[in-house]
Amino acid sequence: MNDDCIFCKIAAGDIPADKVYEDEEILAFKDVNPVAPVHVLFVPKDHIAGVNDLNERTAAIVGKIFLAAQKVAAELGVADSGYRIIANTNRDAGQEVFHIHLHLLGGRRMGAMG
Ligand code: AMP
Repeated sequence: MNDDCIFCKIAAGDIPADKVYEDEEILAFKDVNPVAPVHVLFVPKDHIAGVNDLNERTAAIVGKIFLAAQKVAAELGVADSGYRIIANTNRDAGQEVFHIHLHLLGGRRMGAMG
């Protein structure tokens, strides 16, 4: 737990969030400022600042998050229509919260990358 981290506080239950999935290691909740009809954030409960901070010991959480996202996408009805999973990393990608998270976006047609 990083005391200055908003997603650590959400994972600890200190700040409320609209949760859609939770297990021992992962929490998923609706983005407070959605850019698509389905916009869910997936975070590991343990603090990792971003993709650049993953290592051999912690990388498995990303696969687990993809499995959780697969489940949530089906539950929210976008598995067949399609969805996008994004991990913004540092300045050029516009990362705002430095606790690794994957965005699950769906429910509307999205443009090409970039
Ligand atoms: P990123 O640019 O990838 O770091 O995106 C961070 C995301 O977190 C943004 O889409 C924000 O809208 C979202 N966000 C920030 N604070 C909260 C919060 N308390 N609850 C839900 N989503 C949040």
